[in-house]
Amino acid sequence: MVMEYNPAIPLLRPHIDLDDQGFWEAIKQHKLVFQKCKDCGLLVHRPRPMCPRCNSTEKEWAPSSGKGTIYTWVNFVYANAAYPGIKVPYLVVVVEMEEGVRMISNMYDAKREDIYIGMPVDVVFDDIADDLTLPKFKRREA
Ligand SMILES: [Zn+2]
Repeated sequence: MVMEYNPAIPLLRPHIDLDDQGFWEAIKQHKLVFQKCKDCGLLVHRPRPMCPRCNSTEKEWAPSSGKGTIYTWVNFVYANAAYPGIKVPYLVVVVEMEEGVRMISNMYDAKREDIYIGMPVDVVFDDIADDLTLPKFKRREA
């Protein structure tokens, strides 16, 4: 089941700042990137002003393979406990990427019965509005 939005409710939009502007620009171009420390090489997500390992402020964007596995997940089924702009049920997932960072996202097209911890997934880019693309995940075909 593909996530459906309620057109009567404004879309939740990311608050884009100087730290994650490059991330969202890449997403708009259907590319996934992670912040990489230029001094120690640590990949970081979400983007932030300073490397949590070496305190460097020198950083760049490193391309991701887009491949990961489900680290954990939750299925929102009760409308009054979920964001009203998204029709229930929908799946929220934490994906551990091949590069080692974890992302919170949604399954693009899946049902509760289909999903399990450790499931291989690929990123997909969902253009939910003319000016908003979200990275989501779908089961990786073998
Ligand atoms: Zn560093």
